[in-house]
Amino acid sequence: MPLPQALSAPQRALLKLGLGRDIDLALHLPLRYEDETRIVMLRDCREGDVVQIEGTVTACEIAYRPRRQLVVTVDDDSDTCVLRFFSFYPSQQKALAVGTRIRARGEIRGGLLGFQMVHPTCRPAGVELPQSLTPVYPSSASLPQAYLRKAVLGGLGRADLGSTVAPGFEQEFGLAAGWDLRRALSFLHQPTPDTSLAALEDRSHPAWQRLKAEELLAQQLSQLQSKRERAALRSPALSPVRLKPQGDAAASMPLLLHEQLLAALPFQLTSAQRRVSEEIARDLATTVPMHRLLQGDVGSGKTIVAALGAAIAIDAGWQCALMAPTEILAQQHFGKLIGWLEPLLAPRGQRIAWLTGSQKKKERAEMLRLVASGEAALVIGTHAVIQDQVQFRNLALAIIDEQHRFGVEQRLALRGKMTREAEPSPRRGRAGEGASTSTASAVCAQREPHLLMMSATPIPRTLAMSYYADLDVSTIDELPPGRTPVVTKLVAESRRDEVIERIRGQLEQGRQVYWVCPLIEESEALDLTNATAPHEALAAALPGLVIGLLHSRMASAEKKAVMSLFTGGQMGVLVSTTVIEVGVDVANASLMVIEHAERFGLSQLHQLRGRVGRGAAASACVLLYSTGDATRLGQTARARLKAMVETSDGFEIARRDLEIRGPGEFMGSRQSGASLLRFADLATDTELLEAARRLAPQLLDQHPALADKHVTRWLGGRQDYLKA
Ligand code: ADP
Ligand code: MG
Repeated sequence: MPLPQALSAPQRALLKLGLGRDIDLALHLPLRYEDETRIVMLRDCREGDVVQIEGTVTACEIAYRPRRQLVVTVDDDSDTCVLRFFSFYPSQQKALAVGTRIRARGEIRGGLLGFQMVHPTCRPAGVELPQSLTPVYPSSASLPQAYLRKAVLGGLGRADLGSTVAPGFEQEFGLAAGWDLRRALSFLHQPTPDTSLAALEDRSHPAWQRLKAEELLAQQLSQLQSKRERAALRSPALSPVRLKPQGDAAASMPLLLHEQLLAALPFQLTSAQRRVSEEIARDLATTVPMHRLLQGDVGSGKTIVAALGAAIAIDAGWQCALMAPTEILAQQHFGKLIGWLEPLLAPRGQRIAWLTGSQKKKERAEMLRLVASGEAALVIGTHAVIQDQVQFRNLALAIIDEQHRFGVEQRLALRGKMTREAEPSPRRGRAGEGASTSTASAVCAQREPHLLMMSATPIPRTLAMSYYADLDVSTIDELPPGRTPVVTKLVAESRRDEVIERIRGQLEQGRQVYWVCPLIEESEALDLTNATAPHEALAAALPGLVIGLLHSRMASAEKKAVMSLFTGGQMGVLVSTTVIEVGVDVANASLMVIEHAERFGLSQLHQLRGRVGRGAAASACVLLYSTGDATRLGQTARARLKAMVETSDGFEIARRDLEIRGPGEFMGSRQSGASLLRFADLATDTELLEAARRLAPQLLDQHPALADKHVTRWLGGRQDYLKA
């Protein structure tokens, strides 16, 4: 929403920073402080100190070497200091005339010629010294500190800071007594000069502890509220009631879809897959909307678990939608699920619909019809699934793969796809009777589909306890048997020839190879050149072999053609940008080369590596880094590559990723528009977090009005984002 023109520039800047309410201003805390409460004698100064001195100007002249500058000498009776200004106004020069007594504040530099300050802040001497440290706030170019300081103090004065916590709050969090919210905030905005700056900086001061505790409590409350709100919503209970077999009919009676699917699989489920499937089935059988994250490492077999969930929904006479972030990934699912389910659905007169952005109009219209009529029991696709024209007949289960690649709005849109009037299809509802009674009771409550989110990036424990506290988590902690571990090697770009030899070796054994190039600057336009150059080089080095190219700018049909050659085994090497990042499944691929591996994120590297080692053959992942960069490899890039070589455990990777990146980046799309924790730090404030978890349910049960007030105060209008 554009801001009204009538506002002044600083007012607009305030709103842009999200400082609209008094409480927002009061909670806008300083980045750091400047100590203007004291005058320091020059003889007590050391190089590097930021100090305020007061003295008489003994010289003031413009020098021209090495460049034009105003050079002012100040004498404070203990020593002298030279002030240098490389840009200055005539008025400044006048204010610094010889004989004037001035106060200057800046960083002391030493040097052979005595003390110096470059561009100090100057004012006339004798002005009364402030009583507290001067706060410096996070701000923007159009918002001067002085204006912001006044605004913050105004907000602090007006804001309602009455207690929103129950008695016992301090003890529960182990907080120092006497630091209520008002005192903590007043103190942090204007700390007394005797305050230890270190305690302010590392946020160990009681005032900080208080704020962190309140913030964490707000977050826990908001998550808990959304969990309870969801519990008040209704989803259809998806429990297929088996009709009692009677006499001879028992033999001829078809099994339920999900039983047929299990029977038709060419493999046995792992015990982890069985366990999570049961967890999901149990959720689906209730009228409380499921809100579950299925996490499992790359290759752990989440797709079949999703398919079993879909089968349960279909068995109960409802529709299921499966949404994937890219067309290729959606196609993979589609291919797999068609293979598994189509032969079972067809005899029941049911179809699988396919929706993507690149579809021809006619095909799309036909698919929309299948979805709307309910003929399509399963709908698979990309973002196209949540577009407005898509009307489900009776959606009851929504599955989102690689959930972290979707935005909050998109997840909300999918949840909104269930219409109030929806009811199971009588035609195919084997559980028709059971389900229709629950429909009757659910008519008045707002309805929403069950939601299953899938991710190969496990959420570290602290995040699971905080940002994702409203989520139930199922974990596949076991890979299907028969996988051989992938050997990961770091190889310098200068040894590219050896890598190409290795590729040749793999191809001779009938294996296939991925060659992945980074997407520079996240730009799709650059994508093309990024992958074409290596593609040409490889084609030249390996003449006579089929080497494919895949990048996001290619037409969808073209992509499909390339993918099918690779999946079919006719293509030996696939050069690609990160479009294959997620979900591609070719068991015969045994080598993955990642070019400029230093440019990839850790979880991205891990996901990519998961594309190999899916069959029985020994597989390898080569991380190429360019020697040119190697000496300059940033610390974080080094840490990422090291982690890749040292472990292939997705949980360990996620833990290290969090360590390297911090929660802000880790959260990906969940942070869009949402407030991350501003004051608390999940890495260090685990005890406060635990306390907030303990206290939130009590506060919500015993003092719901206070809890409401607390959440509104801290999160304002941002709760919705945290709940998606
Ligand atoms: P991901 O969890 O990364 O999405 P997939 O669902 O794509 O993994 O599964 C990876 C591969 O493992 C697929 O080829 C799938 O058919 C196969 N698979 C899944 N479960 C099992 C199992 N229990 N035994 C053997 N292979 C399995
Ligand atoms: Mg997958």
